Amino acid sequence: MKKAFLSLLLSCYVLPCFCWGFYAHRKINYYAVFLLPPEMMVLYKPHIAFLSDHAVDPDKRRYAIKAEGPRHFIDIDCYGPPPFPDLPRKWEDAVKKYPEDSLLSKGIVPWWVQVMQQRLTSAFREKNQVRILKISAELGHYIADAHVPLHACSNHNGQHTGQEGIHGFWESRLPELLAEKHWDFYIGKAAYIPNTASYIWNRVLESAAAADTVLRYEKELNTRYSPDRKYAFESRNGIISRQYSSEYSVAYDKSMQGMIERRMRESVYAVASFWFTAWVNAGQPNLKDLSGKTFTTEELQEFERLNESWKNNSVKGKSCE
Ligand SMILES: [Zn+2]
Repeated sequence: MKKAFLSLLLSCYVLPCFCWGFYAHRKINYYAVFLLPPEMMVLYKPHIAFLSDHAVDPDKRRYAIKAEGPRHFIDIDCYGPPPFPDLPRKWEDAVKKYPEDSLLSKGIVPWWVQVMQQRLTSAFREKNQVRILKISAELGHYIADAHVPLHACSNHNGQHTGQEGIHGFWESRLPELLAEKHWDFYIGKAAYIPNTASYIWNRVLESAAAADTVLRYEKELNTRYSPDRKYAFESRNGIISRQYSSEYSVAYDKSMQGMIERRMRESVYAVASFWFTAWVNAGQPNLKDLSGKTFTTEELQEFERLNESWKNNSVKGKSCE
């Protein structure tokens, strides 16, 4: 009876995937603000709560719009062996070689980061405060996703290797458990990135290279833990739920020798550096004399719609889960 109950619990166990987890996305944008020069800090610091809260809007949009899902990942291993010479790095060349549908179905995160970077540069040129803040928050999300190994691997959630749940384990459970108390986010200063396209492609290639370690080390650890030590009932956001136990989580993190902390720190650095680069490329506008405009009713309604879709719908189209 006890066994039957346990296996029922096991089968009910689902850890939601929020791409780096809502917690980590908010933290990444938050910490990125502190890497900015004073000329940018005048705008970003007073709006740090907005930049953190809206770091997760792109994930919420996955529940509203089908086109959103592919912007968060790339199944780069579908394009042959590393370093994937068959995959053109420029979108115009990629669509000449592969049908657009096929590219979309395998994910487009490195290209989408570039689209958002251009939008942010334009927003700075226009000195449009609300657009600068909104696009900065969302650009931060996509850059951070590009740093997650399982966002650059078709075995996103260990579904091909019997490791379902590993996606949320790596990017939600571990940062929530360890980031605040044990990881260091003193990172220094944002830097100008001369070539943002090659920068983000390099991060994606690193993610792809690390995916094997992420999967292999968990598989190996799993052989040394019985299910009752691997999982535990713990409080998460005030709700008692079954998750990877703290003991198992810490052991997994240790086996990867700080990989998650490192990728989170690199995300913070990249986010701040992309924001900074957009501002420089726009001619370093004085951010003290922006319009000071607030969001229009329509824009506020859009935020509300995203929240409603996220709460009430399931993910539309293909996503990283
Ligand atoms: Zn995402």
